[in-house]
Amino acid sequence: MAKKVQTAITPTRTEDYPQWYQQVVKASDMAESSPVRGCMVIKPWGYALWENIQKSMDAMFKETGVKNAYFPLFIPLSFLEKEAEHVEGFAKECAVVTHHRLEEGPDGGLVPAGKLTEPLIVRPTSETIIGDSFSKWINSYRDLPVLINQWANVVRWEMRTRTFLRTSEFLWQEGHTAHATSEEAVARTEQMLEVYAKFAEEYLAMPVIRGTKSESERFPGAVDTLCIEAMMQDRKALQAGTSHFLGQNFAKGSGITFQSAEEKEEYAWTTSWGTSTRLIGGMIMTHGDDDGVIMPPRVAPAHVVLIPIYRKENEKEEVLAYTRSLAKELSQVTYHGRNIVVEVDEREIGGTRGWDWIKKGIPVRAEIGPRDMKEDSVFMARRDLSPKEKRGVKREELLATLPEILDEIQNTLFDRALAHRAEHTRRIDGKEDFYAWFTPESADKPEIHAGFALSHWCGNGACEEEIKNDLKVTIRCIPFEGEEEEGTCICCGKPSKKRVIFAKAY
Ligand code: AMP
Ligand code: ZN
Repeated sequence: MAKKVQTAITPTRTEDYPQWYQQVVKASDMAESSPVRGCMVIKPWGYALWENIQKSMDAMFKETGVKNAYFPLFIPLSFLEKEAEHVEGFAKECAVVTHHRLEEGPDGGLVPAGKLTEPLIVRPTSETIIGDSFSKWINSYRDLPVLINQWANVVRWEMRTRTFLRTSEFLWQEGHTAHATSEEAVARTEQMLEVYAKFAEEYLAMPVIRGTKSESERFPGAVDTLCIEAMMQDRKALQAGTSHFLGQNFAKGSGITFQSAEEKEEYAWTTSWGTSTRLIGGMIMTHGDDDGVIMPPRVAPAHVVLIPIYRKENEKEEVLAYTRSLAKELSQVTYHGRNIVVEVDEREIGGTRGWDWIKKGIPVRAEIGPRDMKEDSVFMARRDLSPKEKRGVKREELLATLPEILDEIQNTLFDRALAHRAEHTRRIDGKEDFYAWFTPESADKPEIHAGFALSHWCGNGACEEEIKNDLKVTIRCIPFEGEEEEGTCICCGKPSKKRVIFAKAY
């Protein structure tokens, strides 16, 4: 029998994928669950990653003319009611504030008191409260477009939660724009989706499929929802970002009107678009292996860790001094527009330091012992390769080539993820084949899924519903890419002009 390879994470991905995910998050020290149901504590290693995501995305938004602002956490109930589909969509998952102080109750404990005349909703999303501001900011066509983004937390009372992927409170950005014409708003909706796709692919090394949601998966109140969808390593789909064309629905609800050039009073056309801390979960599930997280270098909280190694006390000072000076030099090197971030692990805990950094997913590790020091070199390992693959590198070479090495890691991660998606995407034409493909091969491995099926769909919600009920498989998107072609609906056999993506989803 083959000897089982020791892994830093148990269980492995194939043994129990959901449990693997929880263990990877824990071992990386990125986040932990909190005493509050469905809410997480984001620890420094996880938060530094979020800050890098914010920085890069924020710059991309600003390049398109978007400016940041901030709006209240609370939304008056009457605001939410202004758009009928919107309030219906979010009603089931709202945190509601009904009182504004505490009083001593009959049993001595504190009880809510001071009932509010109008309940306040903790924002699940901010279209209505931002719409109220837009209605005041916008009077004439000269005031348009308005291009606003906010970085904030939101609350959706989710029933089944999972760290980063789906939490009750999450951090996100929400963009909101208003335009004079429908065409301009549609163009903005597409433009921001492209920003998301570019960010996911170029920074998170996470290949995504760009497309449109079917009606049943649309944002409540939107005319159209565009999305990026990624395949995780268990072959389930993750909706990684959404961009909504809201038509005039929210403008009508919030009274966002303007005088056109022809001096006519018109409703504005609005968009909204969001990505959240879910991106972190997506990154973990795209690249992580049985030893833990693998951070793509362009968003990694730190790029390289230096681990000084010495046995005798008299070696310590020299090795430490050498390591610190190398750290200083490395941190002057730039990679992809920012200085290399170096960690020096001076903890006195012997052999486990390397594994700690492997589990955290730092892209490059370098050990420095007395002999390396004398040869002016380090013992280097890359996180995208096996932990055993280490090689000696001259100090000068490391300084000169680290940016290239980081780019190689970044590209390897992307290519691997793309190959994984290609391997598990299939064009399926017969209903029987479709059902067989999405039925788990063995009952004891239900969490490893088939993948993405590219199949024809007639456009009827009833067919979508039937497949969802039978297989828990949904239409992830109608992809932008892909030629029109004659085909028949995978469910009802009626004519169809395009293949859509079916998959199980997070
Ligand atoms: P939405 O406003 O519903 O379009 O959501 C915008 C984005 O936020 C989605 O595309 C998801 O990536 C993310 N998101 C939605 N719900 C959650 C949640 N409960 N936890 C984390 N991220 C979420
Ligand atoms: Zn059909």
